Amino acid sequence: MRDRLADRVAVVTGAGSGIGLATVRRFAAEGARVVCVDIDAGSGQAAAEEVGGEFVACDVADEAQVRELFDGVAERHGRVDIAFNNAGISPPDDDSILVTGLEAWERVIRVNTTSVYLCCRYAIPHMQRQGKGSIINTASFVALMGAATSQIAYTASKGGVLALTRELGVQFAREGIRVNALCPGPIATPLLLDLFAKDPERAARRLVHVPMGRFGEPAEIAAAVAFLASDDASFMTAAQFVVDGGITGAYVTPL
Ligand code: NAD
Repeated sequence: MRDRLADRVAVVTGAGSGIGLATVRRFAAEGARVVCVDIDAGSGQAAAEEVGGEFVACDVADEAQVRELFDGVAERHGRVDIAFNNAGISPPDDDSILVTGLEAWERVIRVNTTSVYLCCRYAIPHMQRQGKGSIINTASFVALMGAATSQIAYTASKGGVLALTRELGVQFAREGIRVNALCPGPIATPLLLDLFAKDPERAARRLVHVPMGRFGEPAEIAAAVAFLASDDASFMTAAQFVVDGGITGAYVTPL
C-alpha cells in the first residue's frame, strides 16, 4: 500500500462497523494516525486496537461531544488533517411518508445530517489554522435518485448532506480545505444487510437496478474515501463522488 496518508491525523466517525471500519483499515494501511469514533464503545475500541489508533466514544448528534472530539484530537495530536464524517442510521421506523412519524424523522435528520453539520463546524477551524484539510461526508446515491421503496427521512437527510457539503467546499476552497460528498450505492454492511439483503426477494428488487449485479463491498468505498482524503484528489472539492456499480447511469441493466 502506498504511503499517501503518512502521518496524517484522520478522524473517522462510525468507525466500528461497515464503511467506517473498512476506511479505518485503509487509512491505517496508507500511513494515517486514525482516531476511531463511535457511539458503540465495544466495536469502536476494537477498530482502534486493530490499527493501533485511538478510540473516542462520541455521539455525533451531540454538540458538546463533537466539539470536545475535534478540540481533543487537535490538542493531543497537534492537527486534524482528515475528517471522514460517516456515522449514520437507517432505522426500520423510517418508511413511507404516510407512516413515518415526526419522532423518527427528527431522529434520522439529527444523526445523519445535523451530525455532519456539527463535525464540519468543529473540524474546519482547526483546518483553517493549518491552511489545509480534507473533509469527506457520507451522503448516498439516494440523495440523487428516488425510490418507490421509500425511507423518506433517510433520503432527505442525505440530500441535506450533499447540499451542505457542496456549499462548504465552495466557501473554503481558497483556504486549502477540500470538502467532498461520497455517494455510495448499496453496500453489503450491517446497515444494509439488516434492512433487506438477507431477504432474497427484497434484495432482488434492488439488484435488478445495479448494472454490476451485486452490492458493493465496504473496502471498495474505503478505497474511494482514501483517494478523496489524499493529495491525489487535490483538485477536487464540492464534488459528489459516486461509487455505485453504475446505478445512477443506468436505464436498462444487463440480464
Ligand atoms: P453501519 O451500521 O455498518 O455502521 C454505522 C456505524 O455508525 C456503527 O458503528 C454505529 O455504531 C455508528 N453510529 C450510529 N449512530 C452514531 C452516533 N450517533 N454517533 C456515533 N456513531 C454512531 O453502517 P454503514 O453501512 O457502514 O454506513 C455508514 C454510512 O454510509 C452511513 O452514513 C450510511 O447512511 C451511509 N451509506 C450506507 C450505504 C449502505 O448501503 N450500507 C449506502 C449509502 C450510504
